[in-house]
Amino acid sequence: MTLEKLEFKTEIKQLLDLMIHSLYSHKEIFLRELVSNASDAIDKARFDSLTNTDILEGDSSWKIKITVDKDAGTLTISDNGIGMAKDEVISELGTIAHSGTKDFLKAIQDKDAQDNPELIGQFGVGFYSSFMVADKVVVVSRKAGAGAKSAVEWESTADGSFTVEDVEKHTRGTDVILHLKPEGTKYLEEWEIRSTIKKYSDYIEHPIVMDVEKEEEDKDNKDKKVKVIKEETLNQMKAIWLKSKSDVDEKEYNEFYKHISHDFADPAEVMHYRAEGTSEFSALLYIPSKAPFNIFYKDYEIGLTLYVNRVQIMQHCEELIPVYLRFLKGVIDSSDLPLNVSRELLQKNKHVEVINKNVTNKALGVLKDMKEKDFDKYIKVYTEFGRILKEGIHVDFSRRDEIADLLLFQSSKTKAGEYTTLQQYIDKKPFKQKEIYFITGASREEVEKSPYLEAFEENDFEVLFLLDEIDGFVMENFEFKENKFKSVIKGDIDLDGTKDKDKKDSKKKFEKLIELFKDKLKDEVKDVRLSGRLKDSACCIVADDGDMDHNMENIMKAMGQQVPVSKGILEINPSHAIFEKMNGIFEKDKDSELLPRYINLLHDQALLLQGSKLKDPASFAKEISQLMADNLGNQAG
Ligand code: ADP
Repeated sequence: MTLEKLEFKTEIKQLLDLMIHSLYSHKEIFLRELVSNASDAIDKARFDSLTNTDILEGDSSWKIKITVDKDAGTLTISDNGIGMAKDEVISELGTIAHSGTKDFLKAIQDKDAQDNPELIGQFGVGFYSSFMVADKVVVVSRKAGAGAKSAVEWESTADGSFTVEDVEKHTRGTDVILHLKPEGTKYLEEWEIRSTIKKYSDYIEHPIVMDVEKEEEDKDNKDKKVKVIKEETLNQMKAIWLKSKSDVDEKEYNEFYKHISHDFADPAEVMHYRAEGTSEFSALLYIPSKAPFNIFYKDYEIGLTLYVNRVQIMQHCEELIPVYLRFLKGVIDSSDLPLNVSRELLQKNKHVEVINKNVTNKALGVLKDMKEKDFDKYIKVYTEFGRILKEGIHVDFSRRDEIADLLLFQSSKTKAGEYTTLQQYIDKKPFKQKEIYFITGASREEVEKSPYLEAFEENDFEVLFLLDEIDGFVMENFEFKENKFKSVIKGDIDLDGTKDKDKKDSKKKFEKLIELFKDKLKDEVKDVRLSGRLKDSACCIVADDGDMDHNMENIMKAMGQQVPVSKGILEINPSHAIFEKMNGIFEKDKDSELLPRYINLLHDQALLLQGSKLKDPASFAKEISQLMADNLGNQAG
């Protein structure tokens, strides 16, 4: 059969380029990646063989074999797993960029990430990491159950293309043959392979074996030693989640965490327990200390693996936890589920429901405990995962209050880096304050200076700073212990700071002037009214009750969302001298040409205060300069 030459997909070319030139200091992870692929392939074959024993071809002793050929300079990783058919080899190893690849490239394109070769480890870039140590890679694979003649050989030197060819292979599964670069030949040494497997793959549940030369007593002559080759298993294959807590130490917990998560840092928290009752399962779960780069990407895969009585059933098993706990990593081993459970079955299974509920209770309980007993540690965990946890308010109505109790906020009364809880907020709030006030924005620095906070400060009302993108949606319709949330840049605000009579007087006094504002700005704003939220600033723009506030609009736009266009409401501060003066002019000459000019300037100013761009900055600047000149002229004259 002919040899076909094919081009790699662009993203994969980029990835290969990065691999070849990688400065990553832990190049040995290529072995972890290949062993992990081999182990996944075995899991798949074992899973399929439960319903179709034919694919076993009489061999059910699952193993991953490492073979060294020092003369040829090759290292081979073989498995008797599911294998790949030709079209799979082409797509999986060449023409389809997996989401992991895209995430990795996206992260590496970030400026800071470019100097961070450690990312390779974090993402686990898979098969292609072979090219960090090899200049040529050959893959020979045969799908389990297919005939010996239907095998395929893939080969590449990472020069932008690869070849595939039909070949014969007598056993099912895959051999990955690495032709090592000169600097990669250390991976031909037995101890290097042993220590790498021990470090990264000790917990792989299938034996990783290698032929090892040993000296043994000669059977016929006891004084004589002979060299024999023996297959030795290099990994311990321990299912530490099934051990009792007292038999596992912190170091083992941490190592296992690093093994499953590819993280280099220790986890923040370990949860290891066995649940008994209607559903029996063991859980070993971790809260990482740092959020992975891709946790907010759409195709982020949950780091939870489902086992049934030690048999791996499904990786990235999202049915086991609610979406707002997707930062958890670990394994669940159930004693109740059938071995051949499919994704569809999982979604309806009552044991899975029990597990999900139980894990949620456990995780929320652990977070609550941490918050109460070690607040500093909790702040660190919250800073990493609070944004995700908060989604729970939106999606899990039954646990809203419980989740809300775990939230932390900066506010107009906390210093930078300090936090308040909602309970603390309502405990402290003055009796006359009815609602929980918040302002959304991108950073503390930005919202802290906002003129919208003036009257709240004056009245000693605390305003929460909601700085996460999702805050606006989540908090908008939320009530915490019967206290509604209210945006300070939205709707009418009545802080009871002014007396009713004063308000009525002001309204009357400025009625006509406000009509003029409305008329001149009818294309720009929805309404003009007196403000209850300003102290020093002359005016501001707020959103109508049913509309999205301006800060939220910006956040949505930054996320690439379509935002409905809604006009704001201009609020003017009746105690600011400018309106008194404008009113004076209005009463003398309601057609004075100064009034529309001032109205436009005030509107522009309000736009600037909310962080908007002006339609016509040149006119604004010209008007200001003219005003300054007039004023100086008056003073000089
Ligand atoms: P990942 O393992 O993250 O999916 P890789 O680039 O390592 O990404 O592998 C791509 C795909 O190639 C795998 O998803 C799998 O379908 C296939 N593959 C790789 N190695 C093997 C193997 N030893 N046996 C069977 N399939 C494999």
